[in-house]
Amino acid sequence: MIEIKNASKWYGEFQVLTNCTTNIQKGEVVVVCGPSGSGKSTLIKTVNALEPIQKGDIVVDGVSLTDPKTNLNKLRSRVGMVFQHFELFPHMSIEKNLAIAQMKVLGRSKDEAYTKGKKLLERVGLSAHAHKFPGQLSGGQQQRVAIARALAMDPIAMLFDEPTSALDPEMVNEVLDVMVQLANEGMTMMCVTHEMGFARKVASRVIFMDKGEIVEDCSKDEFFSNTENRSDRAKQFLSKIL
Ligand code: ADP
Ligand code: MG
Repeated sequence: MIEIKNASKWYGEFQVLTNCTTNIQKGEVVVVCGPSGSGKSTLIKTVNALEPIQKGDIVVDGVSLTDPKTNLNKLRSRVGMVFQHFELFPHMSIEKNLAIAQMKVLGRSKDEAYTKGKKLLERVGLSAHAHKFPGQLSGGQQQRVAIARALAMDPIAMLFDEPTSALDPEMVNEVLDVMVQLANEGMTMMCVTHEMGFARKVASRVIFMDKGEIVEDCSKDEFFSNTENRSDRAKQFLSKIL
């Protein structure tokens, strides 16, 4: 579903990604972890073409992101992204937040878009809040709305960039629960997170990044159980978070 082939990226002189290569199959849940500044957010944004790469290629569902003929807006509408900060439209009701891109980007009717939004709100346990505005919801609730909004576009894959790291601790699980449910339903997911409980529960694989490189790319069991085989950089990181 997602092929990252020798992807390199620079910000000016600074190389932020170096020869990153990995493949994510349909239905896989890949957790990306690593120290702050290691390039996790940048990598995940390149998959959605929010950031271009300068070398290598990224192919999503058979479509090359570096091919000038590729319609990147169309691609972006098919890959859901959830950020650390919820980025809901503050001046729109929750139901409108869920409907707007369905209507504007996918051309769905108002009826269809609101019906779909309603179903997804139910799924994330927020039906009672459809008429409220984002500012009236807790952080955990807003993040669940953000996930529902991404799902409303019927994405072929979902990207998460530290979706729980801006939340108060008591709200982390309500968001992780939605992500676990998605994973169990077979959604293809790439998740930057340090929630290793989540990784242990649902990850197919764990990628560890450091200084713009993919240093480890292995199965969850290999990553957590076979720790003596981990690189020094990964060991050091794990010793801090586990
Ligand atoms: P992570 O998500 O792992 O913390 P990022 O992908 O956000 O790392 O950043 C990787 C590196 O790239 C950091 O050193 C960061 O300062 C740098 N960086 C990120 N975005 C930009 C940008 N727009 N311009 C210049 N440097 C950037
Ligand atoms: Mg980041």
